Amino acid sequence: MRWYSRIAAAMCVALLQACATPPAITPTPPAAVAETREPVTILISIDGFRPDYLRRGVTPNLNRLVAEGLTGPMRPSFPTKTFPNHWTIVTGMVPDHTGLVGNKMEDAARPGEIFTMAETDPFWWNATPPIWVDAERAGIRTGTLFWPGSEVAFGGTATKSGHAKVEGGVRPQDWLAFNDAISETQRVNTLLDWLRRPAAIRPRLLTLYFDRVDVIGHESGPDSAEVAEAAATIDRQIGALRDGLAALRQPANLVIVSDHGMGPTSSERVVTLDLPAGSYHVLETGPYATVVPTPGQEAVVERQLLAPHPHMQCWRKQDIPSRFRYGSNPRVAPILCLAEMGWLILEKAPTKPSTGGAHGYDNQAPEMLALFIAAGPAFRHGTVPAFDNVDVYPLLRTLLGLPPRTGIDGTDAPFRPWLAPR
Ligand SMILES: [Zn+2]
Repeated sequence: MRWYSRIAAAMCVALLQACATPPAITPTPPAAVAETREPVTILISIDGFRPDYLRRGVTPNLNRLVAEGLTGPMRPSFPTKTFPNHWTIVTGMVPDHTGLVGNKMEDAARPGEIFTMAETDPFWWNATPPIWVDAERAGIRTGTLFWPGSEVAFGGTATKSGHAKVEGGVRPQDWLAFNDAISETQRVNTLLDWLRRPAAIRPRLLTLYFDRVDVIGHESGPDSAEVAEAAATIDRQIGALRDGLAALRQPANLVIVSDHGMGPTSSERVVTLDLPAGSYHVLETGPYATVVPTPGQEAVVERQLLAPHPHMQCWRKQDIPSRFRYGSNPRVAPILCLAEMGWLILEKAPTKPSTGGAHGYDNQAPEMLALFIAAGPAFRHGTVPAFDNVDVYPLLRTLLGLPPRTGIDGTDAPFRPWLAPR
């Protein structure tokens, strides 16, 4: 019995059977005419997902997208770290040109400050706009369910250096501050809720970010059963997203990427810097080290580091080989030391044994290759030859119907043969 019939029946009793006939039932309104939705673009990052994880028999949903859509080996940019590569993917510029030259860095214009991954002061990010800023400026609504840099008011100015209060700038109309306590299911459900909205306030470009595979890859290494389990977990979320989109009858062009791969590490494969105390400081250590000599100590540091070392090579920033496309930005540290695959550069030898995984190595190493899968009405099925991750941004512009942007490092040319006619 419907709630209004129950109330009517109760009223009849209250009126001592005054109602002789049952109340008329309100007719059900005719079914709403199904809305025809235009495709949306969803950019998904599975942090640290190495493409060969697709061959471990645990990713049926991702493999189905490969079978239907476009895939290919995507080279990350140097350094093969999370923030530089996520920002490159959404800007089409290599880290040397975006200014996101590391997960940790310094800038002479901000003496005493160090950029870390919690930094939202636009000063560090303002060199080149990300795709959601281009879209918003073109009247395309965007929603970001996490992406490095999506919390930044791009183009704005912090009212106090290093603090969150910002004047001006553009953010996605829907965005959330990164919080890894927000479960993967919540992330997918929130994205689907955004798409459930009326058309006028529904995003047309969305991002989604999963960190689990990277976290487990660091802890357990890329060849571990734990990584396969993490890949399976995220694969189920991709399946849930796909089912949710189907239920909404929402066509979508999915562009699924990772920022870098993962190499196996061990406490038995460590190079120590062995520099005199006080002669330097480091910004990052691990697969590479960025070393800043103390003023007046340059010769001491260079003599030690620039000499040949097994499992490590160091360069002055101006001498870094051109294939890395790295070293011209003022934020790049004066000396870069790069480890051989699987080795780590540390200040001191580790005190206890450990194994795990890391990234940051040569961006042309097979272990650093990144994931790329694109599927949806815009894509034909195929395999694109190896390309650089700077090419994803121009592809996203094409998917959104934005004109090509000149003066960037990437091009959508690798994908053009596989784009379906509009
Ligand atoms: Zn990462």
